[in-house]
Amino acid sequence: TTPSHDFPILIIGAGTWGCSTALHLARRGYKNITVLDPYPVPSPISAGNDINKIVEQGSLSTSPDSISSTLLHHATHGWTTDPLFTPYYHDTGYIICAHTLDGLAQLTKRESLDNDPDFEWLSSPAEFRATMPEGVLTGEFPGWKGGFKRRGAGWVFARGALVAAYKESERLGVRFVTGENGDVVKLLIEDGDCVGAVTKDGAEWRAETVILAAGASAPQLLDMKDQLRPTAWTLAHIKMSAEECELYKNLPVLFNIESGFFMEPDEEKQELKICDEHPGYCNWVISEDGKRESVPFAKHQIPKEAEDRVRGFLKDTMPQLAGRPFSFARICWCADTPDREFLIDRHPELRSLVLAVGGSGHGFMHITSVGAFIADTVEGKLDPKLKKAFRWRPETAVERNWEDVQGRRGGPNTMTNFGEVNMWTEIAEQGSTTS
Ligand code: FAD
Repeated sequence: TTPSHDFPILIIGAGTWGCSTALHLARRGYKNITVLDPYPVPSPISAGNDINKIVEQGSLSTSPDSISSTLLHHATHGWTTDPLFTPYYHDTGYIICAHTLDGLAQLTKRESLDNDPDFEWLSSPAEFRATMPEGVLTGEFPGWKGGFKRRGAGWVFARGALVAAYKESERLGVRFVTGENGDVVKLLIEDGDCVGAVTKDGAEWRAETVILAAGASAPQLLDMKDQLRPTAWTLAHIKMSAEECELYKNLPVLFNIESGFFMEPDEEKQELKICDEHPGYCNWVISEDGKRESVPFAKHQIPKEAEDRVRGFLKDTMPQLAGRPFSFARICWCADTPDREFLIDRHPELRSLVLAVGGSGHGFMHITSVGAFIADTVEGKLDPKLKKAFRWRPETAVERNWEDVQGRRGGPNTMTNFGEVNMWTEIAEQGSTTS
């Protein structure tokens, strides 16, 4: 049965999924929602606090019943019809490509992009250069091939959408408690159930339903039975001039699955963000009970090797920018499930606890709709197909291979441990902690 609208709901984490959940529950009329986070929105450690994220709407024609098609359909609907989110969506098109035999095999044999009618196949440097205004792509594109989808894919102004979801939730009556008072140190467990959370200041927050949406920090609060692997990726910004921003406006997203990606520069700060592509970094430590766990930490620098990869990517695409200093960089944490499907379910024992985790590297573009799946889980009416895919599934993480690249490529083509990184960038503080 659907809970009454005044029953208390506690959401742990005001990041991408926490804000989406608060929004959807508030829109459904719930009146007693509290969200806890150690930082004011947008949290500097939220994966969603970023100038842009890719939205790839996928080809719905190929397998309309697949989970990814269903998710894409809901996300797209939000970006194109929900007035809260439409201002942040840029339907600029999307190029996905590779440059080694293995990388190209992934695009052509596994994803058949070369035969997908939604994608134009690009197979020469000249064809790549022609996808953007003259003077942008001046590189050699050595060995690059890939598909160009001109419409129905692009990017979103991530931080803008995150803050919009937060503000609208607050307007609808959701209470956000941030800072030390919102820093959850443990779940409150009584009589075999989760009845709330305890924050750093010692306060107990009790609720009828508790939703854990703490992203990569979730395993710090609950034994996830190895279903989450906190993994970090790397991003860097470079300053652009006003003239460059004008020239680089409305560019399609360029994503090489083996070396990196970029979108147009951010209007506000006039910065271009570049991510180098690689399977990811973990921060392995041995916990008190002898288990291996990857523990997130915040850092506004990236490993020197990531800087070199960013510059290598620029050299192949936009060599005119390859030597420019970084104005900002950070590591950014997300949490991968073994199959990279989301984990949205009631806990099997702690029945008042709902898990909303496992963004698995593609959780931002669903900010428009993922909260609805989480609200459906609270109300016990999640679509059975999604319920099965998103279920609590520790059986999939038994003897988990923590070194699995999980379908990702680039850099060393292996997972890296931060413990082995000796050299970091030395970017001067910009006086801001957000990306
Ligand atoms: P987050 O947004 O990280 O939120 C977690 C929240 O929990 C934070 O606000 C944090 O402050 C809070 N928190 C932490 N500890 C506590 C505590 N103890 N108590 C209370 N609150 C706590 N996805 C896409 O769709 N497209 C992309 O192009 C894309 N690119 C990405 C690039 C990078 C570099 C990275 C790292 C991720 C990318 N993703 C992308 C993935 C996407 O950003 C994430 O899947 C998504 O943002 C996860 O949302 P979340 O709410 O689970 O976590």
